[in-house]
Parts: sequence; structure tokens; C-alpha cells
Amino acid sequence: ATPTSIMVGTGRAAELGVLFRQGEALQSLKEVGVVALDKTGTLTQGRPELTDFVTAPGFSEAEALGLVASIESRSEHPIAQAIVAAAERRGLALSSPDAFEAVPGFGVSALVRGRKVDVGADRFMARLGLPVSGFADIAARLGTEGKSPLYAAIDGRLAAVVAVADPVKPSTPEAIAALHALGLKVAMITGDNRRTAEAIAKRIGIDEVVAEVLPDSKVEVVKRLRQAHGPIAFVGDGINDAPALAEADIGIAIGTGTDIAIESADVVLMSGDVRGVVNAIALSKATIRNIR
Ligand code: ADP
Ligand code: MG
Repeated sequence: ATPTSIMVGTGRAAELGVLFRQGEALQSLKEVGVVALDKTGTLTQGRPELTDFVTAPGFSEAEALGLVASIESRSEHPIAQAIVAAAERRGLALSSPDAFEAVPGFGVSALVRGRKVDVGADRFMARLGLPVSGFADIAARLGTEGKSPLYAAIDGRLAAVVAVADPVKPSTPEAIAALHALGLKVAMITGDNRRTAEAIAKRIGIDEVVAEVLPDSKVEVVKRLRQAHGPIAFVGDGINDAPALAEADIGIAIGTGTDIAIESADVVLMSGDVRGVVNAIALSKATIRNIR
């Protein structure tokens, strides 16, 4: 491509809210065979709401939710904010936790009012030696509904299953259909539960789901998808998306996301709208066509 056509292309992109941090990306984007997207905050709004709170025998909702929300008041995870907001709506008093510990991709632990509280994914409970099989039916139903089930243990006993739902952005299904129309494979990468991820993927037309991915493993998934489908664009917003954004042939960050994601990307979408990915690829193809 000539410098002039690149300049025109990146200028046109900027008008559409797509920022090319380097002109080369405009040329290589048209080669992409697969677009992989992070789920939370990229395809979804990243603002989950608590939808279900089911206690085990021997625990009241007020007691369990009060303890769970107290520990989550220390976490920055979007799930934590959903739980704290739900407890506040119910007028529950929260206590400040002691010995708080967050395990990325797993969950959080602390002491609240002298009681040991652990909240997180099923794999977190497995690590603590607390099998969640008693909640298997409830968790399966929640997952099928596209909700994310989490578990709470109090003093080493499974006390509740908690579900949060994170709405899909209204523009997401249209963006995925448009990527398909360009002949691309569309994959979703998430740390969330497999059943939940598959329910959401089915709703929005994703071809390939990679679920229960630990924060450190997104890079490996990007490499694997590249081997299977060719040059890859990865779209993400979070701190733990940064290595995958750097690894991908083209890293595309959501402009409303974290600074570190934006700094690791080749392309930045100024709004949270994933249709920007479609605009960027279409522009890349148009720019190169003009030169031939
Ligand atoms: P994602 O943002 O895709 O959900 P994360 O790696 O941040 O991925 O988290 C993976 C999973 O770990 C979450 O879906 C949840 O089950 C669990 N988890 C992480 N942090 C917390 C927390 N503060 N409270 C409860 N569960 C958590
Ligand atoms: Mg995210």
C-alpha cells in the first residue's frame, strides 16, 4: 500500500471511531482468518447483575449474602460489584474483611466477623477440597440460562450457589453476523463456566467457544486458534487480555477498557461497540483494493 492510501484509510477509520496505532495493522488486518473475542466487557457489557442466590440447608440468605458481600466489597472483579450491590439493595450490613486474598481466575477468600469465607468458581471450591456436586443440577440450569454460577463456602462448608448474568451488548449479534459475512471464523475466549459460555455463544452466533481459560492461558489459546485458522485478530478489554492482544497478529482493544489493554493493542475501538472490528477489517480490504 502507498503511504497516501494508508493515510486515507487510517483517516477514514478515525472518523468511524477506529484508531490504528500503527499503519501496518491496516494492511495486515485483511489477512485475518479468525477473530477471537474476550467475553466479559467485550461481547457483554461487563456489568453483571446478581440473579439467583440459593442457600444450602442451615444457612439463611441474609447471613450468607451478608458474609459473601462483605468479602466481595474488597474485590475489584465486576462479579464482586454485582454481589455488593444486591446486598445493599436488601439493606444488609457489610463488615470489613480480614486476611483478604484474591486468586485470579478462581475466587476470593477472607475472614469476616471471625468466619472463614471463600467465594469463587467450581474449580476454586475443588482446590479447597469442597466438592460442589450437591449443587450440580442448579448450576447446570443456571448455566443453560446463560448465567454464571459461583459458590460460597462458610467455615469450610458449602453455603450457597450464587448466579450473576452479564447482558450481551445490543450491537454484538450484528457484529458477529457481519464478521461471518466477511468469511471469518469467530471464536470466544472466557474464564467463565463452559455451560454458561456455550449458552451465550449460541445466542450470539459464535463458531468456537474456549471456556474456563485461566488468565495466564489466553496467549496459548490465541496460538492454538492461529494454527487452526490462520492469522488471528484478538479483541479484548481487560488487564489479563494484554498478553493475548500482544500475541495476536492484530490486537484490538476496546477503548472503554483498561489502559494496559489499550497499550498492548494495534487497533483501538473508541466506543465499546464491537462493530468497530467489522469496520476496521472492511476498511483494510477496501484500502488494499484501491492500490491494486
Ligand atoms: P472472566 O472475567 O472471564 O469471568 P476471570 O479470570 O476474571 O474471568 O474469572 C474467572 C472466574 O473466577 C469467574 O467467572 C468466577 O467464577 C471466578 N472469580 C474470579 N474472581 C471472583 C470474585 N471476586 N468473586 C467470585 N468469583 C470470582
Ligand atoms: Mg473482559
